Parts: sequence; C-alpha cells; structure tokens
Amino acid sequence: MSLPTYQNYIHGKALANKSRETFSVTNPATGKVIYHVEVADEFVQKQAIESAKAGFEKWSTMTPIERTRILNKAVALLRERNDELATVEVLDTGKPIQEANCVDVETGADVIEYFAGLAPTQLGTQQQVGSDFFYTRKEALGICAGIGAWNYPLQIACWKSGPALAAGNACIFKPSEETPLGAIKLAEIFTEAGVPDGVFNVVQGAAEVGQWLTTNPDIEKVSFTGEVSTGKKVMQSAASNLKDVTMELGGKSPLIVFDDANVSQAVSAAMLGNFYTQGEVCTNCTRVFVHRSVYQSFVDELISRTNSNIIAGDPLDPEVNLGALISENHRNLVLSYIEKGKQEGATLLTGGHTLSPESAPNGFFVAPTVFTDCTDDMTIVKEEIFGPVMSVLVFDDEQEVISRANDTVLGLAAGVFSQNIQRAHRVIHQLKAGICWINSYGNSPAEMPVGGYKQSGVGRENGVETLNSYTQTKSVYVGMTDIESPF
Ligand code: NAD
Repeated sequence: MSLPTYQNYIHGKALANKSRETFSVTNPATGKVIYHVEVADEFVQKQAIESAKAGFEKWSTMTPIERTRILNKAVALLRERNDELATVEVLDTGKPIQEANCVDVETGADVIEYFAGLAPTQLGTQQQVGSDFFYTRKEALGICAGIGAWNYPLQIACWKSGPALAAGNACIFKPSEETPLGAIKLAEIFTEAGVPDGVFNVVQGAAEVGQWLTTNPDIEKVSFTGEVSTGKKVMQSAASNLKDVTMELGGKSPLIVFDDANVSQAVSAAMLGNFYTQGEVCTNCTRVFVHRSVYQSFVDELISRTNSNIIAGDPLDPEVNLGALISENHRNLVLSYIEKGKQEGATLLTGGHTLSPESAPNGFFVAPTVFTDCTDDMTIVKEEIFGPVMSVLVFDDEQEVISRANDTVLGLAAGVFSQNIQRAHRVIHQLKAGICWINSYGNSPAEMPVGGYKQSGVGRENGVETLNSYTQTKSVYVGMTDIESPF
C-alpha cells in the first residue's frame, strides 16, 4: 500500500508545491516510514505570505468577541477529536497514548480557550495632559511565525497560535520535520471552526524553511521552541528586520529534596520529571539534589519503583508508560551521554541500555536510567540530554545547594520538596529559573506564564502577559487647543 503524502496547508486548504520535494516521517516505535510530506518551496512560501496578509486584513478587523466565538469552536472540535489527534501524536512522537490522550490535546485546547476568553478583555488607556489628552490602542502585530519542536507538536502549535490569533494576528506555523501532522490537523480544525483562510497557514520542512521564516521581512514576530543553539541562530536572523522574538529553549533543571521532604512524593516528582514522555520534556529535573540524610531512602525507593513500575512497549497500548525516543539518531545521542556518564565516574544504578519490548521490538527505546555519585562537573550533569537519564547528587546545606543549582547557563525550571513552607519559598526565590514548583513538578496550566531565565529563553508563553506580547501599543495624542508654533 502506498503511503500518504501531505501537503502544506495554505489559505484554508492543502497546497501542492512546485519542486515536488518531499521528506518522510518515521514512527519511532516501529522504525518504519509512515507518510511523506511536501517541503514548502519558494512557490508555497510566497503563497503563505500572500495568504497570511489577506487573512490578517480580515481577522484583525473582526471584533475580539467574534474571534473568541470562532476560536472556541476550534477548542470544541479539538476536544471532540481528542482520541484521533492523540493517536496522530503517538505515531509521530513515539510517546505513550496514556499521556497523549489526557495531556497533549487537552493542554493545547486549554490554551486556545484561555486566550479566546482573554481576547475581548484587552483595553487601551486614556489620560488627560493639560487640555489635550492621549489614548492608547492595543493593535495586532501582523503576521507571526511559530516554529515548533518535536516533543509536544500539537500542543506547541496550539500554544503559539492561541495567543497570536486571539490578539488578531495571522500565524504561519512550521512544525518540526520529525512530527509534521498535528499542525495540519489543527489547521483543518481552525478552518472548520470558521477561522478565515490565511489566518493559520502551515509550512513544512527543516532548518531551511525555518530560516526563511526568520528572515522574511513581512513577518513581525517569531515564537520559537527548540534547542538553545538553534534559538541563537533564530534570534540572529530575526534581527535582520528587528522581529520580536519569543524563545522557549532547553533546560538542565534542578529538583531539590530537603531532609524534611515527603520522600515518596519527591520520588514521584523525580520520576515524572525524568521519565515522562521518555525524558523528552524541556522542563525536566535532570539534576536531582537530595539531602544526605534522606539520600539512601530516596535512592532505594527510586530504584525499586523504576525497576518495577515502568512498562515500555507499543505506545498505542494504554498500559505502556514509557515510549520510544524520537529517532535512531537521538537514541544514539542519549546513549553517548550515558557512556560519558560511566566514563566520567558516575555510578549507573539502573538502565543505561536500549530496550526491545515484545510489542515494539524495533522502536528507539532507552531504559529509564539513574546515575548516582554524580558531581557538578560531569557532562551528564551539565548538558541537556533530552532522554530518560537522571543524575542524583547529594548535598548538605541550603546555601550550598542553591549555589550549585544555579551554577548553569540554563534556567528553565526548578523544584523544591520540603514541608517547611518558609524554607521552600526562600529557596525558590533564590533559584534562577522561570518555572518553579514547590512539592509538585511539571504542571503547566494555561493561566501560568512559562519561560526561561538565562539561556533557556526570552519572553513567556501562556498567562496574561503573553497576549500582550502579540500586540503593540499605539499612542494617539489629541490636540484640543490650537498649536503654539514659533514658525
Ligand atoms: P531544534 O532546535 O533542533 O528544532 C526546533 C525547530 O527549529 C524545528 O522545527 C527545526 O526544523 C527548526 N530549525 C532548525 N534549525 C533552524 C534554523 N536555523 N532556523 C529556524 N528554524 C530552525 O529542537 P528539537 O530537537 O526539535 O527540540 C528539542 C529541544 O527543544 C530541546 O532542547 C528542548 O529543551 C526544547 N524545548 C523547549 C521547550 C520550552 O518550552 N522551553 C519546549 C519543548 C522543547
């Protein structure tokens, strides 16, 4: 049976490219190609811009409440098609259906619903200045680009298009070339809900298509999710016409477990923050600092739960809770980090190898891996691995652990486990990270702004402030008296 070929989604429908260039997409759990996708060539790129301009004209002049109504229809369709969309995500990413079914589509829909609700609340200001006055208007930016990573493809597309569209912008979205289908499904849903043609276009391809978006002079803003090194390139090329940028990048986040912590809860957090989505989550707490007095009980429970509660296999099986890594290349990268960990003297307590589960023998699986006896200078402790690899470190006192936790160029997330509320807040306030949890880890509701400190990012997604970042302020000064002129 021949495999389907998907096209770019421009102006409310699929558009064929002229170059006939395609790329293929592999199911990480089987290692088999599942479909092909046409690359956005020059013809498609030109159409994407022309269409977005037309879409913007229409969409930006609709009232916010009209936009709300349409976006809420899209939200209802997303929820209605939860299972179908979750399956798309599982086949593209290799993540377990038990996650995609209740997280990926839902958290994407939540964010669009949240911004749809906020759209009509955007207010300008008015102020008297003598007998004159001025007022301000919040205006949409124009065409905004979104560039996504492969770990939460549909959710990322929703998180970028939600605020962009709610504020009245058009959006051209480029999903990762590893996971391109979710964004097409979202585009179809937007069209079905009544979003005018051209307001949400999807272009497909790898770095080159991304680069085109970041340098195109008709695009006003780029919201990027991906690696720090790519983020730097995107920011550099976005400077070509001084585009606004939002950067959601990588992390090497600390989880600090104090001596008064509920150890079982802390183990749950550490496992969620290292093994959920097979470790491919940007906020993962890959540096787990445990106070010496609870270290042994923490490690004993961690190893026992890791060895007995993880079920790897066909991610479409609802029992499976550990999926396949995104690609063979990525699996090799994760394995090379594990080798470095061993070479540099860390103790491998569990995992450290590939898995070949009966139900998915050719998938790119890596066993959940825990290293102890880690030191701050080890490669596995310093660099983002983006796989199920946890480093456990011991600490003795509060100031020591704060300075060690902050000793990184990254600052995406952090967590603290302690029953002492003063200590928990005191420590969190000193951690240089944008997304922090106390006695919890990983939850990211639509209402909560998320983004990184230091090299983990620029700007925020979600929360009220994000809607503002998709608008610009126009000040209008109104003269009520004659102008005094020396000329
Ligand atoms: P990546 O940087 O390799 O690719 C991200 C996107 O950028 C892809 O769509 C890719 O095609 C595109 N791209 C590549 N080169 C480009 C260029 N020169 N110009 C423009 N676009 C270009 O990242 P990835 O491997 O897809 O994703 C994993 C990374 O994403 C991890 O570092 C992870 O921490 C990060 N991430 C961050 C967040 C967050 O919210 N902070 C969320 C998810 C993932």
